[in-house]
Amino acid sequence: MAFNLLVLPGDGIGTEVVGAALQVVERLRDNHGWQVVVSQDLIGGAACNHHGVPLAPETKDRATAADAVLLGAVGGPDFDHLPLNKRPEQGLLQLRQAMGVYANLRPARVFPSLVQASSLKPELVSDLDILMVRELTGGLYFGQPRGFEDLGDGNRRGFNTQTYTNLEIVRVARVAFRLAQQRGKKLCSIDKANVLESGRLWRDEVSKLGAAEYPDVALTHMYVDNAAMQLVRAPKQFDVILTDNMFGDILSDEAAQLTGSLGMLPSASLGDVVAGRPHQPGLYEPIHGSAPDIAGQDRANPLATILSLAMLLRFSAGQPALADRIEQAVATLLADGARTQDLAAAGEVAIGTQEMTARLLKLL
Ligand code: NAD
Repeated sequence: MAFNLLVLPGDGIGTEVVGAALQVVERLRDNHGWQVVVSQDLIGGAACNHHGVPLAPETKDRATAADAVLLGAVGGPDFDHLPLNKRPEQGLLQLRQAMGVYANLRPARVFPSLVQASSLKPELVSDLDILMVRELTGGLYFGQPRGFEDLGDGNRRGFNTQTYTNLEIVRVARVAFRLAQQRGKKLCSIDKANVLESGRLWRDEVSKLGAAEYPDVALTHMYVDNAAMQLVRAPKQFDVILTDNMFGDILSDEAAQLTGSLGMLPSASLGDVVAGRPHQPGLYEPIHGSAPDIAGQDRANPLATILSLAMLLRFSAGQPALADRIEQAVATLLADGARTQDLAAAGEVAIGTQEMTARLLKLL
């Protein structure tokens, strides 16, 4: 049966980078026998303009019925005046929650030819290969109560709730332990157990699970403030990192910078895995946003989205050989010197989104 792929380009450069990834999908379908049926829908600001909400109920239904969703990015200055609960970013949070994708996988890998693009010294980042697993549907971004309160004296209070249950912790930790088993068998769990009750529970639950089910994985714990420092001091000490929603949001952007550009970093968001395959559709997206500063100028790096497609092929479509083929082609393309403006060093000529995509297609 053909693979049912739903594509949600979103806003800004989302449409450009997803357009590039769709050309790769076509190439894999036409030349490499991938049986895939693609449909498209709106999310974020594009959905606000069309439906008045950032994620229409019918789009949510299509996403949960698909085999996987490939998303670009949402948001932009045209929507900054909207109340928080109507903004494009809310569409993304609603989508992740509706799809039940609680484990966000963010690899931070340095391609050999991009070692110089990192802001760290080459010896600190050469061969760097970290996988961050971020809890995605709980914690501070979803906790209730949340809101604003008028204090009645001309002052206001804004409040959010950081909350985790043992079940939410254990299910995402299990994903991280399994991935560590397939890699270097090292897992570092990051929390703030010295200050937060939710962090204390996080540490207890991860420790219990590790001891009971994954004794072959070397588990360590680190406070988030130390982790933020260690990531730029000695990033190669990490293999798989497990952390909560907010800490993961911040640390994964820090890890991204180690690799040189946000434009290189893919992500996969998964729910329960049964018999080695996702039990529900996975959500695949670059970690960058809609980049309004370069939108519509053919300057966006499409590789984060194309590498997200490779993750989709590996985790949701059962096509690891095609995933390898894309990753290999990206490595060759970069080794040949192809650079979009975010990757180009001083004096290097930058090519546009379309040219980068065309060169990649040739290699495929
Ligand atoms: P951003 O990731 O959009 O951009 C940050 C910087 O990185 C910009 O200078 C941008 O030009 C550059 N950049 C990002 N992706 C690039 C690419 N593929 N190629 C080349 N350069 C790239 O973050 P921001 O500027 O803080 O946010 C812009 C909008 O995107 C906001 O509305 C924000 O809420 C939204 N956002 C959405 C997501 C998402 O959809 N997952 C993630 C982050 C931010």
